[in-house]
Amino acid sequence: MFRKQLRTWLLQRAMPLSELSEMAGEGLKAMEADLRHLARSLKHEGLRLVVEPATCRRCGFQFPRDKWHKPSRCPRCKGDWLDEPRFHVER
Ligand SMILES: [Zn+2]
Repeated sequence: MFRKQLRTWLLQRAMPLSELSEMAGEGLKAMEADLRHLARSLKHEGLRLVVEPATCRRCGFQFPRDKWHKPSRCPRCKGDWLDEPRFHVER
């Protein structure tokens, strides 16, 4: 039931893990597990989970797409002005 809700939110707009966890009242770890599970089950419905990778706002560095948590620091410029990875569901 909760995953259905999650799917509905992410069909509407892209959201980062922190916002999802706040809306769901769940910890970040649990939220990530839910999201990974959702990603697998979406495939059967012809939908997919799209990950917009975290990026550094200072130098534009893009983190790997499989990093779902907000990184603390940019490996290239060492800056900490970072955009969180965001997720959405696409048909
Ligand atoms: Zn950077």
